[in-house]
Amino acid sequence: MDFKIETEGCEGWGLFSRRERPLLIAGPCSAESEEQVMETALRLREAGVEAFRAGIWKPRTRPNCFEGVGEEGLAWLSKTRRETGMKVGTEVAKARHVEACLKAGLDFLWLGARTTANPFAVQEIAEALKGTDIAVLVKNPVNPDINLWIGALERLSMAGISKLGAIHRGFSTYDSGKYRNAPQWQIAIDLKREIKPIPLFCDPSHIGGQREYVREIAQKGMDLGFDGLIVEVHPNPDKALSDAQQQLTPKEFIEIMSKLVIRTGQVADGDSSMEAWRERIDQLDRALMRTLTERMRVCEQIGEYKKAHNLPVLQTDRWEKILSRVVKEAEENRLPRELAERIFKAIHQASIDRQTEIMEGQILIGHSNKRQLPFS
Ligand code: PEP
Ligand code: MN
Repeated sequence: MDFKIETEGCEGWGLFSRRERPLLIAGPCSAESEEQVMETALRLREAGVEAFRAGIWKPRTRPNCFEGVGEEGLAWLSKTRRETGMKVGTEVAKARHVEACLKAGLDFLWLGARTTANPFAVQEIAEALKGTDIAVLVKNPVNPDINLWIGALERLSMAGISKLGAIHRGFSTYDSGKYRNAPQWQIAIDLKREIKPIPLFCDPSHIGGQREYVREIAQKGMDLGFDGLIVEVHPNPDKALSDAQQQLTPKEFIEIMSKLVIRTGQVADGDSSMEAWRERIDQLDRALMRTLTERMRVCEQIGEYKKAHNLPVLQTDRWEKILSRVVKEAEENRLPRELAERIFKAIHQASIDRQTEIMEGQILIGHSNKRQLPFS
């Protein structure tokens, strides 16, 4: 779908007066009291932050957690806007929220991860937004499904919203590794490839889940070319009513932001060493594809043999041997063990799928052998 996104990098949105990366949105996870909202906003404004966030309605995974102060908090955000001149925004999860925010004159809204995962809720929000031109940021869905993310952006775009952005807050997976939500950066990069003009924000607070990780994740976001950051900041994080462990004090926030390294260099036109390296990479990628193709042809022959001799497709012992061999080789060559495991598990799965097709007679090896190899 063609997105009509107003000007690249949110110029013209009225939220940021400067164009430099990172565009910053900061504020507490939740608005808790008028004083807490105002105090945080004033400290952030002093630091040059122009866009202020605070959750009013908090969709929590489990009940009996703090679920937000509700509509009352909108008055605190309006007051913050009036008294500090900052732009203010909050999370919306249903039409009623959108209507209340528009009435209160908020400058931007965002859809939370749990909402993006639900097309009914997204559609309801999109309908409520028809005819307005407020900026809307869409967090990735909780599960690593890029189509839900793109779909939510499409629904908003079809409702006429053109100040559209995306927030990468990581994915809830069975094993998220050291962070609260696995970043799976490739998904955010793929989103940017699909919807080129979309401004992309990184949310290091929700990815990390612990304040000690905010710095490294924010830096990584910048190194990957994200346009902005949305960061949780609270005057007294340990006492916060939600997400206490991941919020920063204003002082910590300022310190981290001032030390971010923003690399703005570009490859000079005709830089011959870069061109040569890239050419070499392309050659190696072609070699990898040739090897993969040849490997698959051998797997097909084995599949045919297994079929003729009534052998099961999966040979667990053999697979375990392959896996331990490649992991050992990876370690000897200083390649990440996880890389070797992921690649070989994917290759093995593809071989099993192909052999299963052969067993079920969907592929006739005689034919596939004659197929023109794409890389020959
Ligand atoms: C939030 O921004 O406070 C929030 C609830 O985030 P997410 O939707 O990413 O969990
Ligand atoms: Mn939060």
